[in-house]
Amino acid sequence: MGNHPKKILIVEDESSIRRFISINLQRDSFTVIEAASGEEGLEKIKNEQPNLVVLDVMLPGIDGYEVCRRLREEFPHVAVIMLTARGQDMDKLMGLELGADDYIVKPFNPLELSARIRAVLRRMNQSSPSLKQEAILQCGPFQLDTHGHRFVKDDRNIELTPREFDLLKTFMKNIDKALTRDEILNMTWGVDFIGDPKTVDVHIRRLREKIEDTPSHPVHIETVWGYGYCFRKGQSNVRN
Ligand code: CA
Repeated sequence: MGNHPKKILIVEDESSIRRFISINLQRDSFTVIEAASGEEGLEKIKNEQPNLVVLDVMLPGIDGYEVCRRLREEFPHVAVIMLTARGQDMDKLMGLELGADDYIVKPFNPLELSARIRAVLRRMNQSSPSLKQEAILQCGPFQLDTHGHRFVKDDRNIELTPREFDLLKTFMKNIDKALTRDEILNMTWGVDFIGDPKTVDVHIRRLREKIEDTPSHPVHIETVWGYGYCFRKGQSNVRN
């Protein structure tokens, strides 16, 4: 998966758990840095620029939710996997409000965490040679550069989270094709993703805010009632 070891930041206040994760990830050839609080975590994200953050929800001071929210605003290209306790609100974690890339429920097997990390990084790193395909997808006013990881609307750069980027990539490869939520989940999150199809709705709500001129009347991401969603070029009055 790329030549350089990926840098992972672990934000967890319980030192025994933090060390345990750290040792296991180092054994898996990741470069690991640690933070014992949300404040320290945000500081290290800024200074060390990790590829991915493993973020515990329960932290003293600024909690994991707030760290994730700030991270999404300031560093949308950094992936986030949340460590949660059973019973926490997964829709909140993965959805509109926070937009984590994945979550894992404590207690967990370190091998599973490594597998999740790899899956998230793989999805982010679409420039690997084995996946070389059309680098630039175009549709109407949109241009999605899968190698440069950029999304442009009418020559204006739009910041997207890794998830939103992948979701748009799914859509732009399936223009004018109605997709069910399950199809969208499988194509975007991968078949190994365990989650609620409603997750798709929350991500789409947020994407519309970013890419539609009038998010309440979307012309690009159309709802197909009783089915799913369909991505359109827009300008339905123009025939070509
Ligand atoms: Ca904790």
